Amino acid sequence: MQIGITIPLREFLKWKPFPPNCEEPLIFCWDAHRIKVDGRVMLVVCNAANRFAGVTAMRGNDWKRLGETCVELVRTSMTECGFSPSAVEEYLIRAGAVEFGRTHGRKAVGCMNRMIDTLLWSQCDHDEQFQAYLTHIVNEQDLGSCAAHEGQGYATERMAQDLSAMGIDPYGMPPDALDDEFSDTDIDQDVTPEDNALEDIAREVDAIIAAMDAEAANASPEAQEAAQNLAKQIASIARAMRIERGHDPACPPVEGVACTVCGTNPRVFLGAIPYCLNCYNELTERLMGAPHVTNDASVLAVFGKDGDMLQFGVERMLTPPFARWAAHEVVEDDDPRHDTGYVGIEVCIDANVAEDQEETLAKLWEKAQEAVSRPSTYVHEHSGRISNGAHVGDKVHFAANSGWGRIIEDEHGHYSIIIDGQRYDAEQFLGLFTGYTGFNLYWQIHDRGDDLPEPWEITESYKRRGLM
Ligand SMILES: [Zn+2]
Repeated sequence: MQIGITIPLREFLKWKPFPPNCEEPLIFCWDAHRIKVDGRVMLVVCNAANRFAGVTAMRGNDWKRLGETCVELVRTSMTECGFSPSAVEEYLIRAGAVEFGRTHGRKAVGCMNRMIDTLLWSQCDHDEQFQAYLTHIVNEQDLGSCAAHEGQGYATERMAQDLSAMGIDPYGMPPDALDDEFSDTDIDQDVTPEDNALEDIAREVDAIIAAMDAEAANASPEAQEAAQNLAKQIASIARAMRIERGHDPACPPVEGVACTVCGTNPRVFLGAIPYCLNCYNELTERLMGAPHVTNDASVLAVFGKDGDMLQFGVERMLTPPFARWAAHEVVEDDDPRHDTGYVGIEVCIDANVAEDQEETLAKLWEKAQEAVSRPSTYVHEHSGRISNGAHVGDKVHFAANSGWGRIIEDEHGHYSIIIDGQRYDAEQFLGLFTGYTGFNLYWQIHDRGDDLPEPWEITESYKRRGLM
């Protein structure tokens, strides 16, 4: 489950900016935002596909266990709005472990913002934490649009449609398989009963197992055993890593808030257990039997157009079967808006996990250098949102936008094209897209009288036809 943290919430949590999200079906993506309703501080989570949302009041400590809080809020809101417990659990299992990241695009965030406008004028329940009344209002009485469906609708109905499309009966009876499958998980082999760590580890293993994919619940005894072995392995690796770092093997250094191994900034959640990026990578590498690569502090220096040097911070995250490497430009200036966000250029590549680090860095450097010479992304100053765009001088043509163009032929029979008032010859026109080398592009040519579809509608119809 990918939870997109809005920039104001991220700043409130004092978390670092996120690298680009890994691709995930929109139905498993939620955006999280912090608002004040009727004098109480609330967390809102909103599904990126269908705008289904949950609202809960927050106490100080809830922010420190945000992963669990979000999952709990999704579970409670769905149940509150009438989905059967088995449908909700099935959905949560398929959604997988919580991973925090960026918000999920203009359309999804726009729909959430419109919904939040409704909430801001509402009254809250001062006695309860979970806001059942507000959750009903946004999901069942607020007619609106959402990213993955056409036209206007109610969020609960959209969620029901999305669950059905995934083969989950939204209001179905629980199958037998949802009994407490793993309650007697045999994890105490190398832990004595009086060791009070047992409970912690059991909780950790439960959480990891719960996060494993949907098959696990209905799987054969062999598959169940394999899942249990994997969870045991993860728990024992985390334990070994704690010892290596000089921490108490049984206890996370700081409860819930920080990386369970080393106590730094959490980034990835396996079940409800937080890991920093480096520990998560190391754990995954050990599971895969690959050597550990530490590259927390890699910086690439790239030459800008005027011969000045630009610095790129490198971050690597294992998403088996590959490692995703992201390089983002480090911008230092006096503009306070640039303090916490990624501004500037950003590139990433997916490399083979076993690939030589130097080789991967060299490829990343090349891509960053190419991007500096001809940037293909643009970070909007106020929202922090990133668009693909073709840069020409001071102008940026956004890939998702539409503009007016005209093809003209001069007296020598040479063709050129005029886009938004600027003239390009054939080579310059193609040059606009060299930043997209290797991308699949989708072009549409319309007459002036055509009704232009929204960019997300194009993407959806493309997906429906299996072209994406
Ligand atoms: Zn760590």
